[in-house]
Amino acid sequence: MRVEREGIGMGNHLPRRVFVGGLGVGALVLGFDPAGRAWVAEAAADSGPLERVPPLDGELLVDPGSREEAADDYGHMVRHHPRAVLRPGSVSDVAVMLRYCRARGIPVAARGQGHSTNGQSQVEAGLVVETGTLDDIRVEGDRAVVQAGALWSDLLRRTLPHGLTPPVLTDYLELSVGGTLSVGGVGGATHRHGAQVDGVLELEVVTGAGHRVVCSPTRRADLFRAALAGLGQCAVVTSATVGLVPAPDRVRRYQLRYPEVAALTADQRRVAADGRFEYLEGSVQPDGTGGWVYVLEAVAFWRDGSAPDDAALTGDLSHETGTEEVDDLSYLDFADRLAPSVAYLRSTGEWYDPHPWWNVFVPGSAVDSFVESVMADLTPADIGPTGVVLLYPFGRPLLGAPLLRVPDDPEVFLFALLKTATPGPGAPTPEEMVEANRSLYERVRDLGGYQYPVGTVPMSEDDWRRHFGDAWPDLAAAKQKYDPRNILAPGQGVFPR
Ligand SMILES: Cc1cc2nc3c(=O)[nH]c(=O)nc-3n(C[C@H](O)[C@H](O)[C@H](O)COP(=O)(O)OP(=O)(O)OC[C@H]3O[C@@H](n4cnc5c(N)ncnc54)[C@H](O)[C@@H]3O)c2cc1C
Repeated sequence: MRVEREGIGMGNHLPRRVFVGGLGVGALVLGFDPAGRAWVAEAAADSGPLERVPPLDGELLVDPGSREEAADDYGHMVRHHPRAVLRPGSVSDVAVMLRYCRARGIPVAARGQGHSTNGQSQVEAGLVVETGTLDDIRVEGDRAVVQAGALWSDLLRRTLPHGLTPPVLTDYLELSVGGTLSVGGVGGATHRHGAQVDGVLELEVVTGAGHRVVCSPTRRADLFRAALAGLGQCAVVTSATVGLVPAPDRVRRYQLRYPEVAALTADQRRVAADGRFEYLEGSVQPDGTGGWVYVLEAVAFWRDGSAPDDAALTGDLSHETGTEEVDDLSYLDFADRLAPSVAYLRSTGEWYDPHPWWNVFVPGSAVDSFVESVMADLTPADIGPTGVVLLYPFGRPLLGAPLLRVPDDPEVFLFALLKTATPGPGAPTPEEMVEANRSLYERVRDLGGYQYPVGTVPMSEDDWRRHFGDAWPDLAAAKQKYDPRNILAPGQGVFPR
């Protein structure tokens, strides 16, 4: 149960609303300290009180339900309980609470949608800043100024009436803008436009020191570089200015099948190089006889009411003819194509099973032999009944953010084993899946690959140093400068406290 308490007679210095909950066993007490002119929130006994919390425009939640929700993510394997959850009513709330936490050395995790899978958006005995209340969007000409808690689906729905779209969308649109910009953000248009971080023109952030700062490639550029794909280590992103491109009304989607990986990647390379498709991905699917089939998924836009030229787009490709699937969709239905599957997985409950996901970037020169050897050993049970395997390329030169670590190879492939640990006879446990993730990660790393750090690969401090490589000195310097008490994003484990 939640009880809303309105501030009474405390002038402008009060929070507009403060929620406290759990009236019963383990009740939480909230009071105003007249001497300190501040609120005192008593959180769980084992994590100590948050005392003298400054006045806020938004809500500071300390009830067990809110803290429990913030101690979970899409992985459903790691659970770190915060002392409190901030739903900011303004950017100023974020700055106020970061200064508060900095002064006391209280760790802080920004949380968008909590769709990372290994506790990255969690914090034990600290403060979770849920960015979802910061969701304002303004479309200004060919750009949008979007607050970090807005979802990509919100942004797309706001830009489409202007005939515009963000150039790169993630496959799933219900991710927060701040969350994907903190990791990189890749999708089927990355082969043409780079990652989502490459389309950012300016950021507003609150540093770990509690300073609200605007940064861009020409203004506080070190902070800009540290925030994009920076895993939330130096600052909480509060808003981003992103470039937009013309959106089509309709698209034509092609799904082409190949018997082996080298045939798929050869065609992917060919179409990525000449840019004939606006969108390019690929997957590996069970073939129904115990093996795998390799699928190229590509999209071309309808232009001025005219359908794409099928022969020109696919005539020279080497897929198994007669098995292609071609369909036309509205651009929005295509962009939001995962929505029906997600609704289904929610209805069966599999959405809530553990998800020890594994995402890596493999150098193009090694991809065929590596994927072939992984798939030779992999069974559908290893990824779970609703597991997904992704494999698709993008050109290295388009990826400009130094902290999005990708192989030093002109071609980079995303290879992802999106596992679901659905319990069942003979099914691997989540822990076994994580162990397998780690050993596969080491193989990729030794080939010059990198993990895309949204999944579940246990990493030591040394692993992170190696991961960031020549970008490590700049990241460490930015950390020291902008988060001097090392309070931000401990769930990533990059700078252990
Ligand atoms: C179903 C599904 C589909 C996905 N598809 C794609 C895809 O197509 N492409 C792709 O690139 N990724 C994809 N992902 C991965 C996704 O991009 C990351 O997990 C991303 O971090 C999720 O965003 P979020 O809002 O849930 O972030 P969270 O999980 O809440 O946060 C991730 C990290 O970023 C930090 N963070 C969050 N918000 C901020 C902020 N405002 N400022 C600073 N740090 C912040 C957190 O502290 C945490 O460390 C997918 C994930 C799922 C579950």
